[in-house]
Amino acid sequence: MPQVPPAREKLRVSFEFFPPKTERMEEGLWAAIERLQPLSPDFVSVTYGAGGSTRERTHQTVKRILDESDLVPAAHLTCVDASRADIDAVIRQYRTTGVKHFVALRGDSQNGAGSPYAAHAEGYQSSADLVAGLKAIDPTIEVSVSAYPEKHPESPDFATDIDLLKRKIDNGATRAITQFFFDNDVFERFVERVRRAGIYVPIVPGIAPIHDFAKISRFAQGCGATVPNWLAARFEGLGNDPQTHSHVAAAVCAEQVLDLADRGFRDFHFYTMNRADLVYSICHILGLRPKTAVAVVPALAAAE
Ligand code: FAD
Repeated sequence: MPQVPPAREKLRVSFEFFPPKTERMEEGLWAAIERLQPLSPDFVSVTYGAGGSTRERTHQTVKRILDESDLVPAAHLTCVDASRADIDAVIRQYRTTGVKHFVALRGDSQNGAGSPYAAHAEGYQSSADLVAGLKAIDPTIEVSVSAYPEKHPESPDFATDIDLLKRKIDNGATRAITQFFFDNDVFERFVERVRRAGIYVPIVPGIAPIHDFAKISRFAQGCGATVPNWLAARFEGLGNDPQTHSHVAAAVCAEQVLDLADRGFRDFHFYTMNRADLVYSICHILGLRPKTAVAVVPALAAAE
């Protein structure tokens, strides 16, 4: 049983959303934002579709978060399939709307994962160059980048990955958010490697609550995240039992984050899939409570 970590109040969380495609999805996203907002995340990030395919929708989502919530948005940005001039225009547009935090990524080609990456001839050549470009436009911009505890699937080895991570940090990024993972030992070993390479920024674990085990297993294969056998065993036979699936998912994820907290990690980035249910429960278990005043329950009020 994990120990209750001291100073739980010092834990920090951030939430990742994706830009909705339909009005119904938009309603779902906003229901999730309204539920999660009182937990006072450090920031919420909004993804950018492959090859910039959601450029407008990402922008609209980020703008709505700025206009209609107290949350601090971070806009994801990729350098694939776009010229430097196009990307700089997007950055400048964001700056005029008040966005100060970006998640700078290389991205994947729209041809799909697995097709070899080729930088745009007139574009940023790598995520490290994009970080430098963001800082050149405005040195006060906050930049987060990605990191891969099991290494990026295209990377020949950890050393290549960590060299690039170092370049991204040297160019001005101040936080790395990881790909999701399920084995905390793997994450801890990765952080040790990163520290040995002289990288001292926070390496924030990316946490994926499991809304659909079959789906996340398929997705994990594409992005090089291992699904351990013990995890598969936990979800065995639950394909048609959503209620038990959801309880098991909450238990598994709580176990993971409490263990990370026991190991001294204080920041957690949740891949929400635009859903609040599991994330809210897990944050509650982590000790986070809504900052806004909770309405007095009528029965209690009457008893006073
Ligand atoms: P980088 O960190 O730039 O590179 C990944 C690896 O590829 C490197 O470690 C290196 O081994 C290798 N590599 C890269 N360039 C070279 C080179 N020139 N020579 C040799 N090796 C090289 N995708 C989206 O489309 N939109 C998003 O919003 C999005 N958000 C993400 C958020 C997070 C936190 C993470 C972890 C991933 C996200 N992704 C997103 C996925 C990401 O775009 C893909 O994983 C992509 O394949 C790599 O982009 P990157 O910036 O992570 O890669």
